[in-house]
Amino acid sequence: MAVSGIGPYDRENIFAKILRGDIPCRKVAENDVALAFHDIAPAAPVHVLVIPKGAYVSLADFSARATDTEIAGFTRLVGQVARDLGLDSEGYRVLSNMGENAGQEVPHFHVHLFGGRALGPMLA
Ligand code: 5GP
Repeated sequence: MAVSGIGPYDRENIFAKILRGDIPCRKVAENDVALAFHDIAPAAPVHVLVIPKGAYVSLADFSARATDTEIAGFTRLVGQVARDLGLDSEGYRVLSNMGENAGQEVPHFHVHLFGGRALGPMLA
């Protein structure tokens, strides 16, 4: 079920558990402020999730409350992962679902990084 994307942070969400090490993930890279790991149900040959290490519900929450250091480090990790996975030459897509209308399922801010094939037009 989709979540609202705003409101209080749920410390029991699945990505909070991954950050605590309570459940495993296939890590791709990390820096001081963000972690990248493979999506458990990939929708493309490359499907990586990048999440901040801080407790933010959504892009709306992250953009409002995160520090410039967190925002910069998060953005740099997205670009670094794309480069390291060899996606730069053929291109890729970065997407974030925010709230119910977008179908956000996990209430910890994340971006999806898709690549490895032609991705087609964006969905409306
Ligand atoms: P959302 O719909 O919130 O934007 O996307 C959540 C994403 O998290 C989905 O693509 C889903 O496959 C992924 N996901 C859900 N649970 C897990 C998990 O336990 N591990 C990993 N690696 N990905 C997960």
